[in-house]
Amino acid sequence: MQILILSDIHANWYALEAVLTEAKGQYDQIVCCGDLVGYNPHPAQVVDWTQKNCSSVIRGNHDKVVAGLEDLSWFNETAQTAARWTIDHLTAAQISYLAGLSEGPKTNEYFELVHGSPNDEDEYITNSSEAATCFPHVDVPLTFFGHTHHQGGFFSKRGNIGTVAAVKKKQRESVVQLEVDTKYMINPGSVGQPRDGDVRAAYALYDTDRKLVTLRRTMYPIALTSSDIQKAGLPELLGARLFHGF
Ligand code: ZN
Repeated sequence: MQILILSDIHANWYALEAVLTEAKGQYDQIVCCGDLVGYNPHPAQVVDWTQKNCSSVIRGNHDKVVAGLEDLSWFNETAQTAARWTIDHLTAAQISYLAGLSEGPKTNEYFELVHGSPNDEDEYITNSSEAATCFPHVDVPLTFFGHTHHQGGFFSKRGNIGTVAAVKKKQRESVVQLEVDTKYMINPGSVGQPRDGDVRAAYALYDTDRKLVTLRRTMYPIALTSSDIQKAGLPELLGARLFHGF
């Protein structure tokens, strides 16, 4: 079984489209670690596509805010403006789909999905010491997470914590062979708003038979998303940051 793992699409349709074009024919099902909406201008398209195409989805903090499950005041001003705009551009049915998304962790026979961390859906795992506090709470060998918009992750083997690197800038993919007696927490990276200094859309594929995680980066027409951000009247900063990858 080949599984496409997406996270933090954040209403960037052109980025999602580029990922799907590149990965076409290479997966049997799609899962998503949350944050379908927020920041970018295509929330309705992304929500409809996710509902139709993903076999397993958990909610992110932006999905919660847009669904009215969490207060806007947790966000900075730009994110608040984008969340209000998003609410105005979704139908009641689309908002109710977001409201109904499950909280992570969500486990299947192959791995677990979380948005932030296995302990707390809103917690950021950004370094090895934060990851070290999470591993004792996971019972499965493989967890996919999102939220930081940084591709890569961590592993724990006999009490030692190591890191999984993102795809290098001049490369298109990197492959992680999962080892026995090792737990992994891997972030596929953000499809719609990468913040790890690489502007390309990020995603991962998991080969459940060979136990291979392939991290990928793919270029998409950033100028189109940025121009739609401008046309939508969303904060210009949201378009500018896509060209810098942070
Ligand atoms: Zn996010």
